[in-house]
Order: sequence, then C-alpha cells, then structure tokens
Amino acid sequence: MSIESAALRRVKPSPTIAVTQKARELKRSGRDVISLGAGEPDFDTPENVKEAAIAAIRRGETKYTDVDGIPELKQAIVAKFKRENGLDYKVSEINVSPGGKTVLFNAFMATLSAGDEVIVPAPYWVSYPDMVLLAGGEPVIVPAGPETNFKLTPQALAEAITPKTKWLILNSPSNPTGAAYTREELAALGEVLKRHSHVWVLTDDMYEHLVFGDFKFTTILQATPELRDRTLTMNGVSKAYAMTGWRIGYAGGPEPLIKAMAKVMSQSTSNACSVAQWAAVEALNGPQDFIPRQAKVFEGRRDLVVSMLNQAKGIKCATPEGAFYVYPSIKDLIGTKTPDGAVIKDDEAFAAELLQAEGVAVVHGAAFGLSPFFRISYATSNDILEDACGRIQRFCASLT
Ligand code: PLP
Repeated sequence: MSIESAALRRVKPSPTIAVTQKARELKRSGRDVISLGAGEPDFDTPENVKEAAIAAIRRGETKYTDVDGIPELKQAIVAKFKRENGLDYKVSEINVSPGGKTVLFNAFMATLSAGDEVIVPAPYWVSYPDMVLLAGGEPVIVPAGPETNFKLTPQALAEAITPKTKWLILNSPSNPTGAAYTREELAALGEVLKRHSHVWVLTDDMYEHLVFGDFKFTTILQATPELRDRTLTMNGVSKAYAMTGWRIGYAGGPEPLIKAMAKVMSQSTSNACSVAQWAAVEALNGPQDFIPRQAKVFEGRRDLVVSMLNQAKGIKCATPEGAFYVYPSIKDLIGTKTPDGAVIKDDEAFAAELLQAEGVAVVHGAAFGLSPFFRISYATSNDILEDACGRIQRFCASLT
C-alpha cells in the first residue's frame, strides 16, 4: 500500500527532475554541462532590500505576524497596485503568502471542491495542473500554440467553459513561452468571461516587470474592470526584485476570497517570514531603478538567444514579449537521427540527446503540456548563452 494520499497519488512528480538529475550526474562525472533549466534571475537582491531586512532583524521583527501579512506590507502592495496597475484595492483585500506559489496553492485549497474545473492554457507553468489536482479539482488543459502566439483565444476559452468551471488561469508574460497578452487580447477574453458569471480569474502576473521594447504590460482587471469581484490578481517580488529565496508572494482580490485564503494559512503555514516581509516593503516602496536595469539586460539576452536559435537547423523560435524564457519549436527535427543512430522521436528525446551530445540541459515541452518544443531559461550571462546556443546549433546540424 502506498503511503501517499489519494490526492497526492493524482499528482505526478515534477517532469523537469529527470533532466536536472541527468545534468547533475553528468557534471559529477566531469562533463562540462550548461544548465538552462533554472527559473530564477541570476542577479543579486538589491542592496537597499538586504539592508531593510538586516534592520528589521535588529529591530526585533522576528516574531509571528498577522497570518496573511503585516499591515505595512499590505499597504505597500495597495500602493503598488494603484501606482503600477491603476487598481484600487483595500488593505483587507490583500493576501501575503510565502511565495507566489503559495498564493496560488492557498487560493485553490480555499475554493476548489471535488469536480471543480480549472482552465489551464497550455503550455503552462508546471505547477498549475498538479496544484489543482492536489486541491481536489480537475485541470482542463486548453492548447494555445504558436498559431495563436501561445495565447488563449476567446473562442477556445468559450468552448472550454462548462457549468463546473471555477477558475481560469492566465499567466502573462508566460512561463514557459514569454508570451504576453495585449490589453485588447485581455479585453476580448474579458468579454467571454462577462457572459459566464460563475468563472473566476486567477491572473499570475509574476513576470509583469520583465517586458521588452514598446510592449506595455496589462493585467486583466485594467482591460475588464467588471471582473473585479471574481478576480485574484497575483504577483510577487521573486522575479521583479531578484528575491526568489525570500519567499514573498501577494495578491489582491475580493474580501471573502482573501479571508478564505487566510483561513487556509491559519491552519498551515501561518505568516510568511517576518524579516522577508519587511524586505518586501522596501522592495515595493524603495527606489525602483533596479527593475528597468534588469529588464534591459534580459532584453539583450532574449535577442541573442532568439537570433542564435533561429540559425540552428530545424529550429523555429518566436520572439517573446517578456519573462526570461524562449520556447522554440523542433517540429522539423522530429524523426531525425543523431550520428549514433538515436531517433529524435519527441521533445523529451531531443532534450536527452542534446544533453548527452553537447552537455546543454533544457526542459522538454511535454513538461509544460505542449510538444514538440523545449524551454530555455536565459537567466544567465551572454557568454554562457552564446556557448550554449552554439552547442545547440552544432547538435542540430549533426541530425540527419
Ligand atoms: N508563477 C510563475 C509563472 C512562475 O514561473 C513562478 C516561479 O517560477 C511562480 C509563479 C512562483 O513564484 P515564487 O518563487 O514567488 O513562489
């Protein structure tokens, strides 16, 4: 008999682990391996944020706090939503959780009953479907491929909605594609949602600040304010301020939902780390010059990676609007063979053979629910990216 609960048995272990583990093994055996799998900025947390945390420790801010966040941080989040998104939230409509991931988890735990459906456009961030399963819901995967620039269309959304639909998840800019919705695209989805008042919207805006060129980030409530009483606007400091290890995520939403999420927290994690909360206050209220500086660097890396990948035989790579990922297609390479005779039968085989031949670790598209693609995280230096993309070009050229 398995030790796992019925709920946990429905959850699959992270499909990215096999690649990561193989990369680690190869490295240990002395191979020169470049890993482009990690989803975190390679920048350090800004100094002012670190100093604020040190000061908080010295002041003795080391005790339990209110379960879903200190008032000072909630106030900073209210100000952020107003300043950057033009959204009016009250302090009582804010949740602070230990990381953006936990915001999502708390929302699903608080709201999903057995059989409730959650619409997840694919490719998706790996955690969405399994979190839904763990909370007792049913993920409904809706393909959103390159023909629609990796975005959910109003028609596909309308077709996916059933009487059991509880949530739609939107993630813009997206992990794993970097695609981001324009205001018009969001408004069009909003029109469909207006006709289905039982559907809630969970918008994951973690990559809000990583958008490039003239692209203007919009969150769905800016495009369709009528959805305010059934939208959870989720965000966090992890990607915007290079604070992945601090574990602070937050959201704005209707009071009954925020209260239900606090109830989940009161019997599970309790508050997010007190010191990290004070660091997040400084991140949101302090100087914001780190954000455009980081985005500029990522934009240069995106251009480098997209250009080099498109020079690789058989790869087609779209130019994403944001985040720090690209999601190139390897459709034209399916069925080819390596010099050793291994067949590239799918994207998992592509990733495995690329790692074996050239020591570059990428994550296969099946892990994100849409094949045949692979994901590169370009949160690393230009030198490493150039080396990695050069190796990918060499690998693709070797396939016949
Ligand atoms: N949402 C998306 C789309 C992400 O890519 C990530 C992290 O990779 C998260 C949420 C989770 O963020 P956090 O590290 O704050 O839990």
